[in-house]
Amino acid sequence: MRSGTGERGNWTSQEVYERINLLLDQLASEDLTSVPAESMGDDQIALHRITNRVQAESLRRLHRFDSGEGYAASGARTVKSWLRWQCNLSDGAASEQVAISRRLVALPQTEQALAGGDISFRHVSLIAQAASELGDKFEPLAEKILVDVSKEVDPRRLTVAIQHLKHCLEPDGVLGDANEAHKRRFLHVSQTFDGIFRIDGQLDAEGGAVLRTALDSVMGPRQDGDERTASERCADAAVEIARRQLDGGQLPEVGGQKPHLAVSVDLATLRKEPGSMAAELEWSQPIPAETARRLACDAAITPIFGGTSSPQIGPTSRVISGPMRRSLKALDKGCRFPGCDYPPAWTDAHHIKHWADGGPQTLPNLVLLCRRHHRLVHEEGWKLELGERRELVAIPP
Ligand SMILES: [Zn+2]
Ligand SMILES: [Zn+2]
Repeated sequence: MRSGTGERGNWTSQEVYERINLLLDQLASEDLTSVPAESMGDDQIALHRITNRVQAESLRRLHRFDSGEGYAASGARTVKSWLRWQCNLSDGAASEQVAISRRLVALPQTEQALAGGDISFRHVSLIAQAASELGDKFEPLAEKILVDVSKEVDPRRLTVAIQHLKHCLEPDGVLGDANEAHKRRFLHVSQTFDGIFRIDGQLDAEGGAVLRTALDSVMGPRQDGDERTASERCADAAVEIARRQLDGGQLPEVGGQKPHLAVSVDLATLRKEPGSMAAELEWSQPIPAETARRLACDAAITPIFGGTSSPQIGPTSRVISGPMRRSLKALDKGCRFPGCDYPPAWTDAHHIKHWADGGPQTLPNLVLLCRRHHRLVHEEGWKLELGERRELVAIPP
C-alpha cells in the first residue's frame, strides 16, 4: 500500500473499473417500480455529474495515451484511428475527443470543473473551441468567466456568452464570423415529381431573426382546438406570409401583371360533374376539384369561351365585389369559424352554397373564413350552417 492514499491506493485501475461496474450492476438491478418517482430527480443529477467526471478522467488518460503514443503498439497509425477501431467512435467524435484532450492541458480551470462534475463535455468543447479561436487573447480571466457561466446555463446559452466575450476581446473577428455566416446563406425551393415542394435553407443570424419574427407574428398564440403541430403551424405561416404579399399587391409586376396564383379550371369541374377535367394550378400538378372550388370561392375570374380551337377571353371580374366585401368585413369582423379570431385581412369569403352550384353573392350565403378554416370546410369535409342572425354552426365530417 502506498502511504497516505488510504485503502484506494491498493487498487489498480483495472480493479477500479471492476468495482465501478459492480456498483453500476447494483444500480441496474434495483427495481424502480418500488422507488418513489420524485426521488429519480436526485438520481438524474447524481448520474449526470458522474458522467461528467468519467468524461474528464477519460480525456486525462486519452492525453497520456496520445502524447506517449501508447496506441502505436497495436499497429494503429494515429490515436484517432485507434479510437475509431477500438471504441467504435465516428470520425468526428474521435477527432473531437483528441482535440479536446490536447487543448485541456492549457485550460486547467475547465479541466477541474469537468473533473468535479460541475460542467459537461459539451460545455468543455465550446470553451476549448473559443480558446483556440481567440488564441493569445484568451486569458485565465476569460476562462474563469466561461467556466462560471457553464456551471449555470446550458450549452446553447453558453454559446451566446462566448459570442459576447469574443465581441469584447476581438470585435473584428466577430464581424468576420458574421460575414462568413452571411456568405453561407442559401434557400432551395424544389418540386418533387408528385407536385410537393421541399424547402431547405440556411440564413445568417439577422436573416433568420427577421424570418422567425414574421413567422411567430403570423402564427400567434395557439388557439383552443387547433390540432396542428408546431411545424405544421410554421409551414402554414410561411405560406400565409407569401399569400399576403401577393394579396397586398405591392410586389413588382411579372410579365406586365401583378403576381398572383392562377388556376385553370372547367366550369364542369367546379360543379364537380362526373367525367370533368382536373383543375391545374400554376407551378403545380393537377389539383383536386374541391381545392379549385375553394380557390374560386373568393377570386378574380377570367372566363374563356369557345374551347381551345378559338378561345375568346371575357373580362376579368372579382367574384366578391368591393362593396360586398366591405359589408362582410363590417358584419363578420374576421373568421367566423367557432373559436377563431383571425382578422378580416386574413380571411376569404366563403359561399355556403358555391356560386358554381348557383349560390348567390348575397350576405346570407357568404361568410368570412381564415385560410385554415376555409380549407377545413372544402377539403376536409366540414359542413357550415349559417342562421338568420348569422350564427354559424360547424359540423365535423
Ligand atoms: Zn369556400
Ligand atoms: Zn379561422
